[in-house]
Amino acid sequence: MKNDIEQAGKLILASKYVVGLTGAGISVESGIRPFRGPGGLWTEHGEPPMDGYQKFLADPKGYWENIAKRSGVTRDFVKALNSAKPHPAHYALAELEELGLLKCLITQNIDNLHLAAGSKKVPEIHGNHQKLRCVECYARYQREEISLETLPPHCPRCGGVIKSDTVMFGEPIPVDVLRICQQETDKADCMLSVGTSAFVYPAAGFPQEVKRKGGALVEIDPYETDLTPFCDVSIRGKAGEILPRLVDCIKTKLQHGETKSK
Ligand code: NAD
Ligand code: ZN
Repeated sequence: MKNDIEQAGKLILASKYVVGLTGAGISVESGIRPFRGPGGLWTEHGEPPMDGYQKFLADPKGYWENIAKRSGVTRDFVKALNSAKPHPAHYALAELEELGLLKCLITQNIDNLHLAAGSKKVPEIHGNHQKLRCVECYARYQREEISLETLPPHCPRCGGVIKSDTVMFGEPIPVDVLRICQQETDKADCMLSVGTSAFVYPAAGFPQEVKRKGGALVEIDPYETDLTPFCDVSIRGKAGEILPRLVDCIKTKLQHGETKSK
């Protein structure tokens, strides 16, 4: 384990443009369950229907009216999202950006915890549960900015229908955020993947693209993932334990004169 952290630290320092990729696993220690793997919501309850967006388009008013009637697993998941706070892994990634070593952090999470921890450049490929989005012009709004007096709400800018910013099953990734993720992946010569089963595309394809063009891949996850065969280093452990150690290791190397690749 110590050697893996050392090796990951060296790779990060030797790279010119490191991009992070996080998934549900990084927020497990903040009390939000992942979907897959041990303890996952779907592992326990089975996969939900994959046509959420089609149902929304067919009846946006019904979608909004049903939000208040959420029950069981969904209600518990939303409750966990609303009360979660960032933990040391989120702060470690924010520090890596502050040090100039992490250029961008692509997240599949909708929980807002990277932004809450102070990370700045965070394309949220599956949206943010605290925001709303217009399906026509992609404008994002804080929930309190949009009146829910008439349902469905409409975009103050263009009149389009408003939904949660969270990407639903069956919904295309908004093109604006997808473009940023693609541009960042194109620039990356190293990707640091944390807590993702690397099962959900297009995000799962980003590390593979970095690898294909000769870049380095580092993974942090307690279990083997679909990405493991492509990784230069796989660190097996919890994000909250490993990431602070990785950042400490990098800072020690910097203090001892090891310089960042220019
Ligand atoms: P996933 O549920 O498919 O996989 C989670 C991964 O995290 C697994 O590989 C698991 O081994 C690992 N893991 C578990 N505990 C960990 C820990 N303490 N530290 C590090 N890794 C740990 O997650 P996914 O790949 O992100 O795909 C599921 C999709 O569901 C995402 O795209 C996301 O949009 C959504 N989701 C988001 C949240 C959230 O916002 N926190 C939570 C659940 C699901
Ligand atoms: Zn609009």
